[in-house]
Amino acid sequence: MTNEALQQLVEKISLEFFKRPFVHRAYFNARLKTTGGRYHLKDHHLDFNPRLLNLDETVLIGIIKHELCHYHLHLTGQGFEHKDETFKKLLVQVGGLRYTPRLEVAKYHYQCQDCGQLYHRQRKMNLRRYCCGKCKGRLQFVQNDEK
Ligand SMILES: [Zn+2]
Ligand SMILES: [Zn+2]
Repeated sequence: MTNEALQQLVEKISLEFFKRPFVHRAYFNARLKTTGGRYHLKDHHLDFNPRLLNLDETVLIGIIKHELCHYHLHLTGQGFEHKDETFKKLLVQVGGLRYTPRLEVAKYHYQCQDCGQLYHRQRKMNLRRYCCGKCKGRLQFVQNDEK
């Protein structure tokens, strides 16, 4: 999913569930580690974790609704923090997610020697058993993020 497709999805959910337009920008931000999304108070843009795309789409939608609760409550001058009653009520009303499910961060990186496809995994892969899912080429270990 591109940033543009994400933007359209956020705009659609905003109109459908909040009856208000989303007039700022939404982006995928790979620097978010375990957080699903973030609302920026200063310029009102939303960031979403690209790893949400590895999960069921209902999770992404639930997180978008969560961030839009912060967004619309803040912009209309209402309590927009997690502890606020207005936030809790609106979140339930639109069916947003309270928490982000665990987002796994890939630690091991592999690349196909033939087609160059990259693979990111939470666990070490047995290279004698696995080959490239695209071209059946040999995989090569490229990086380990573990310190
Ligand atoms: Zn939140
Ligand atoms: Zn390949």
